[in-house]
Formats: sequence, C-alpha cells, structure tokens
Amino acid sequence: MVFETLPDTTENLFTIAQRQFDRAADLLDLPAGLRGILRVPQRELSVNFPVKLDDGTTRMFTGYRVQHNLSRGPTKGGIRYHPSLTLDEVRALAMWMSWKCAVTHLPYGGAKGGVIVDPKQFSQHEIERLTRRYASEISLVIGPDRDIPAPDVNTNPQIMAWIMDTISMHQGYTVPAIVTGKPLTIGGSEGRHEATARGLVYILIEAVAHAGMNLAQTRVAIQGFGNAGASIARMLHALGATIVAVSDSQGGVYHPRGLDPAAVALHKEATGSVVDYPEGDQISNATLIELDCDILIPAALAQSINSARAPHVRARIVAEAANGPTTPEADEILFDQGVMVVPDILAGAGGVTVSYFEWVQGLQSFFWSEREVNAQLERVMQRSFHQVVQMAQQHQISLRTAAGALAVRRVADAVATRGIYP
Ligand code: NAD
Repeated sequence: MVFETLPDTTENLFTIAQRQFDRAADLLDLPAGLRGILRVPQRELSVNFPVKLDDGTTRMFTGYRVQHNLSRGPTKGGIRYHPSLTLDEVRALAMWMSWKCAVTHLPYGGAKGGVIVDPKQFSQHEIERLTRRYASEISLVIGPDRDIPAPDVNTNPQIMAWIMDTISMHQGYTVPAIVTGKPLTIGGSEGRHEATARGLVYILIEAVAHAGMNLAQTRVAIQGFGNAGASIARMLHALGATIVAVSDSQGGVYHPRGLDPAAVALHKEATGSVVDYPEGDQISNATLIELDCDILIPAALAQSINSARAPHVRARIVAEAANGPTTPEADEILFDQGVMVVPDILAGAGGVTVSYFEWVQGLQSFFWSEREVNAQLERVMQRSFHQVVQMAQQHQISLRTAAGALAVRRVADAVATRGIYP
C-alpha cells in the first residue's frame, strides 16, 4: 500500500464514524450507557519521538495508537504513515475496525495507528529507524494478546518485519504474532497480499447473485489501481466480467468493450500510471464514478463518492474496497436510488480476515496452504454477507446500516455480558 488522499469535505472522519454509529445504535435502541462506551475509543496513546536522520540531525515525529474496544478480544488494525494523519482520523479508523471485525465474527476489537510522516521524503534507513522507534514507543500497548498491528496506507510487509524484529529484540525471543501482513519468510500467511481483493470478489459473487445479475455479463469500473484495485480488476476479469475503467491518482482509462487488467498493470509498471494506456480513452476520476456500468468499486481514497457525485452514479452495485469512500449524505442518495452499496466494513474485510488467519497460524506455528486460506476466507465472507442481507431485509434498511447494526450489537453484547468493571 502506498497512497491515500484525505477527505475532500470538511467533516472529519471521526464525526462521520460517530454519526454512522449513532444510526446503528438508534436502530438497536441501545441503552445510553452502552452507547456512551462504544461511541469513543477505549484507549489512545500519543507518542512524540526523535529519529536520527542520515545527515546526522535529529527530527521529532508524532505517532498514535488507538484501541477502540477490547471486549471481544485483542484489538487489530493497521499502521498508516501519512503527512496529514490526525488523531481523529485514527479514531475513526479504529472504530471502523471494531465493526469490521465484529461483522465478520473475528475475535478482535478494532485499533489503528500511524505516524505523521511523508515516507517519500525519507530514505529506507530513516524509515527503518522511525519504524523501530515508533514500535518501541507503542510497545506499551501492543502484543499478540493485546493489540496486533498490520500494514495500511504507506506501510508494507517490510515495515511489519521491522516492528516484529524490534518487539522480538525487546523480549529476547521471536514474537511472530505481534503483527500480521509479514513477509512469508518470517511467518506471513499465504494469500495475505491479495486477501482484500479476494474477499471483495467473494462478496461480489454473492451480491451479484442476490441482485439477480450474472457476473460474467457485468461491466465494472474501479477507482484506484493499487494493491486492492489492481488485484480486484485481475480477478473479476478472470471471472468473465468486463473491466470498463480503472484509475489511479493521475486519472483513469476507459474502454466500453473492456480493458485487459494485466496489460494495464504492465503499462502502469512502465510509466507509473494507468493514464495514457493506449487501448482506451482517458477519463477523470470524477467521470469514472459516473460511468455507465453495473458495478462501481472505490478502491482508493476516503469520501470519493460525495453528495454531488452520488446522484450521477449509474452502477447497480457499489462495492467498497476503500475505507469510508461514501459520505453519509451520498449513502442516503444511493439508497434512495436503489443502488446496492456493499459497505467497507463488509466488502473490505478480506484483509483483516486473512490477518486473523496469519495470527492463528503464528500462534500455533502451523501453516496452511493458500488453498486452505482462500477456502476459509470464502466461508467467512459468504456467511457475513448473508447475515448482513438478512438483517437488511428484516428491517428494510441499507446494507451499511445493517452491517453496522449487526456489528454494534455483537460488540455491545460482549460489553454487556462482561459487565462494567469494577
Ligand atoms: P494502494 O496505495 O496500493 O493503492 C491506492 C490506489 O489509489 C493507487 O492506485 C493510487 O494511485 C490510487 N489513488 C490515490 N489517490 C487517488 C485519487 N485521488 N483518485 C483516484 N485514485 C487514487 O492502497 P490499497 O492497499 O490498494 O488500498 C486502497 C484502499 O483500500 C485504501 O482506502 C485502504 O485503506 C483500503 N483497504 C486496503 C486493505 C489492504 O489490505 N490493502 C484492506 C482494507 C481496506
């Protein structure tokens, strides 16, 4: 993962996350006490720490680790390196992780962390030192039984390896289950790299059937051609879908009869972007959202579908790979238009699900084949999709509200069952 842009509206992500929570809590008629507990993160750690740069000077950095709720098990969530990272953004992402883990029935609460840094401005050695120092600072709150980080925007398996090594050096022995998304050589899981894409495709197969459509006859537009987007394009193409458009931060490319994702990927590798791909027309990211297609997959940034763009969405299904790509206002517009929006906490849960499998494998020192990983992932995604659909049909609500309500109810039940200490 290398890039994500921040919201294009002024409303901060944590306010949005709380508004979505309130809606679920209203639906569940959640008592005020429980509502108060779940509306805010349980723990927040802010750290300011120095890093020696290659030129011998020292620079201060700020990082965070936020744990939203620990009632259902240890917390889980990525680490993001971004120059405009804020504590509120980390809080929102931590809360969403709680719901993502609950909707898929993973025995975790949600967490998120990050450092305010633009990694492109620093050398690999500097990023390694920053990572190791940040890992030391947050070692107060992370651990295989407490909180297990993973890669997120601008972090990757190598960064996870440095975190794992740093914590292992503190302990004096190797602690593989401290992070997930590790390289295979040190206890990573088969299938983890493509898990977000694969999970979304498993969900989409169910969603398309539910909508009475045939996947092989669908036309798909994908915003974002990174780890998630490019893999989704390749997998859907292999299943016979027509990929009519893809895009990255520079812009997009469109062909009504379909693009070959492998060829687009090669073009991107050679030129740094999908734009200028010769077998298609250039389009903007805004146009991509409004294209005549059956399935729209936002796989880039938060809030890319806002209330101005939503009325122009022509897809019948929107499957969210990105976290928070649809604003609450846009969500309502899409619901009123009859668009099936498969929400991020469900459609984008493949990554954390295989992270869970990696953690389990690490704890047991018993590793699965890729086929076993994918089969278990398919089981989790299918089950989760149908539970959310059932909830939506029962209450005549959107899949987002249903997924949120299902997840909030599971976390609230755990909190209520355990009781309030002391
Ligand atoms: P990535 O960095 O590999 O890819 C992001 C893509 O989005 C790149 O192609 C980039 O060029 C493009 N992009 C950036 N700004 C854009 C813009 N303004 N318009 C259009 N495209 C733009 O990241 P990724 O791992 O593919 O993640 C994509 C999204 O999915 C993120 O929101 C991430 O949080 C979410 N997600 C990822 C995972 C995972 O395991 N990788 C899991 C769950 C959710």
